[in-house]
Amino acid sequence: MCSGRVDLGFVFRAFSKGIDGVFIGGCHLNECNYVTHGNYHALNMVLLAKRIMEHIGLNPERLRIEFMSGAEATLFAETVNSFVRQVKKLGPLGKSEGMDQNEVKSKVAEVTRLVPYIKMVNNNKLGARLNSPEEYGGLFTHDDIEQLFREVVSYYIDPAKCQACSTCLKRCPADAIVGGKNLIHVIDQEKCIKCGTCFEVCPPRFGAVRKISCEPVPPPVPEGVRTIARKSKALS
Ligand code: SF4
Ligand code: SF4
Repeated sequence: MCSGRVDLGFVFRAFSKGIDGVFIGGCHLNECNYVTHGNYHALNMVLLAKRIMEHIGLNPERLRIEFMSGAEATLFAETVNSFVRQVKKLGPLGKSEGMDQNEVKSKVAEVTRLVPYIKMVNNNKLGARLNSPEEYGGLFTHDDIEQLFREVVSYYIDPAKCQACSTCLKRCPADAIVGGKNLIHVIDQEKCIKCGTCFEVCPPRFGAVRKISCEPVPPPVPEGVRTIARKSKALS
């Protein structure tokens, strides 16, 4: 498949399964047959993934991207062999990083959960395709990644504003919203992947979804007190 199809989520899913190294081969930059230039997407994704790996304490050398053509079989074999040697030298995932399996799993799981959010931040920052590997390399600094994780957003439904229209519930891709007819809707923060869809789709006249950053998310309304008292019904 096109290297541009290799998603950030695929890379961290591999590490979550205990894979010691991930290698991605793509066509030479600027030689893509399509206007999409998927190999630049792949480069962007790999550089971002490497920064994230550093952030969680994994050696970024466990991930490599190389560009080559279908006619360069010898180069492909040499490159893969050199990567395999490098990963063998690093040993099992987490070993050379001084982390046990549980620590690796929980850190990778946290990143995996945030992949949709990280991709959204990346897309907002990227805007358009850049022109060189150097420009992609400078897109996310260590400080940017620190900030990204420090200021990760959460979404919260304001119980005083929710009108139980269920638009958010129907559109949430993670089944993270709990609600029903005439019930204040709440977000299950454990399931939420922070895609921001609920924030986008909640009708402006309700404006019930809040974006929260750098502060704790208020606790959800207890189950027994979620019924919305409609004015018309209250009067009748
Ligand atoms: S941000 Fe909203 S729509 Fe997206 S997963 Fe979380 S609750 Fe669902
Ligand atoms: S879209 Fe807004 S008003 Fe409708 S259920 Fe969701 S939070 Fe409540």
